[in-house]
Amino acid sequence: MDQVVATPVGHAEAGLGSSPADTAEEAKPPPRRALTRRPSPAPQATRGQSSRPQPARGSRPRAGNRTPVNPRTDAFRRRFFPEATVAEWNDWRWQVRNRIRDLAGLERIFALSADERAAVLAHDGPLPVGITPYYASLMGLDDPTEALRRTHIPVSGEHLRSPGEEDDPLGEDHDTVVPGLVHRYPDRVLFLTTPFCSTYCRYCTRARMVGETGEYTFGVSAWERALGYIESHTEVRDVLLSGGDPLALHDDKLEHLLRRLRAIPHVEFVRIGTKMPAVLPMRVTRDLARMLARYQPWISIHFTHPDEITPEVATACARLADAGLPLGSQTVLLKGINDDVETMRRLVHGLLRNRVRPYYLYQCDPIKGSAHFRTSVDKGLEIIRGLRGHTTGYAVPTYVVDAPGGGGKIPLIPDPVVGRDGDDLLLRNFEGAVHRYPDPEGTLGRALGGR
Ligand code: SF4
Repeated sequence: MDQVVATPVGHAEAGLGSSPADTAEEAKPPPRRALTRRPSPAPQATRGQSSRPQPARGSRPRAGNRTPVNPRTDAFRRRFFPEATVAEWNDWRWQVRNRIRDLAGLERIFALSADERAAVLAHDGPLPVGITPYYASLMGLDDPTEALRRTHIPVSGEHLRSPGEEDDPLGEDHDTVVPGLVHRYPDRVLFLTTPFCSTYCRYCTRARMVGETGEYTFGVSAWERALGYIESHTEVRDVLLSGGDPLALHDDKLEHLLRRLRAIPHVEFVRIGTKMPAVLPMRVTRDLARMLARYQPWISIHFTHPDEITPEVATACARLADAGLPLGSQTVLLKGINDDVETMRRLVHGLLRNRVRPYYLYQCDPIKGSAHFRTSVDKGLEIIRGLRGHTTGYAVPTYVVDAPGGGGKIPLIPDPVVGRDGDDLLLRNFEGAVHRYPDPEGTLGRALGGR
C-alpha cells in the first residue's frame, strides 16, 4: 500500500457537507430535532431473555432516535458519568468524545492488573486504546479475565512478536492498487474508508493502520482515486467498505460514498463491515437507517461474544433490518474469550434472534502480539462440530482461515467422509453415527476404505 500520512479524514479535505470529521472529536451535541422524534418500537430481541439486561425504568430519553438503556449500563453511567444525561449518553457523538483513551481514563473505571498497566504504559505506535463508555459498561471492571475487557485493554503479550506473526499478515499492502483500495479477488475490492474506530480491538488485523497514529490515512482525495479505479475496472461488481469503521463517518459523508458507488453501473453489490452496532449501538439512529435504506448495502457486523447482545444492540439491529438491509456477522475466534461451544452457541442464537445471520468465524490472523489470542484450528473445528446439526443451520457460521500472505479465505469443515463400501459412500452424521449414501459412480472416500 502507498504510504500516506496518518491524519484522520478531515471535513476541510472532504468538503462533503456540514458534519465534522469522522474522528467525531469535534462533534457537537445532537440537534434538538433529533431528541423530539417519536420513540422506536421495542426491540424484538429481548423477548424470552429474562436473564439479559432489560431497559431501565425512568431512564429512557425522550428522543425519537432513542436507544434503551439496560440497567447495568445505566448504573455504570450514574457511577462514572453522573454529569451525562440519558440523552447525551444515547448520542453516539457524546460516546465518541468521551471514550476511554489512556491510562488515567482506564484507572478511573477499571481495577487494572499490573500486566495491563504495564502494557498500556509500554504502548507505542498505532492501535491506540479506545473504548466507548457504553462498551466499557459491559466489561468486568474488577476482573482482568472477563471476555470483553480482554479484547480491548492491552496486556503485555501484545508487545511480543511470536514466530509467524506479521504486521500485515494478509498481504493487503501487496494487493493495494491505490491508497485504501485492496483488489485481491477477481470481482471485488476492499475499500478502506477511514482509519478511525470508536473502539480498538487488540487483535485487529489492521492494527498497523487504524487509529489516530497509524501510518495510513484514507482522506477524500484517496476516496476519489479509489472511486476512479472502481469506475475504470468493470470487473469489479462487489465493493466492501471497511476501515477502520465506515459507520464512524458522518451520515453525509457515508451517503456521498454510497451514492457514488451506486452510480457505477457495474457495481452490483455494496457491503459495509462495521463493529459499531455492537460497541456503539446508538450510532444506528433512525436517520442513519433511513439513509442506508436508500442504497441497500449489506451489513457485516463484527460480534465477539454473547455479552454484547443487549437491548441497545437489539434496537440497532432492528433498525437496520427494518430498513431492509441484510445483516450478517463476522466473529474472530479468540482464546479464552469465545473459544468454547456454549459461548459460541449463545452468540449465534442471540444473533439469529436479532435477524443477524452468523456468517464468518475467523481463525485469528497472526498479527504481531496475537499469540495470546490465537487458538488451534482444532478448536475452531470442535466448535463447528458442536454447532452443526445440533442447532439451526442458519446459526452455523463458515469457519475460515484467511491464508497468510494473501492466499484468501479458506473454509474449514469437519470432514464427514468415513470411506466407501462398494457403491456406498460412508458418511458420519452430527451424532457420530455412520450412514450410507448410494453413490455408484463416485470415487470419494475410496482411498479411505470402509469403516
Ligand atoms: S473495529 Fe475492526 S477495524 Fe476497528 S479495531 Fe476492531 S477489528 Fe480493527
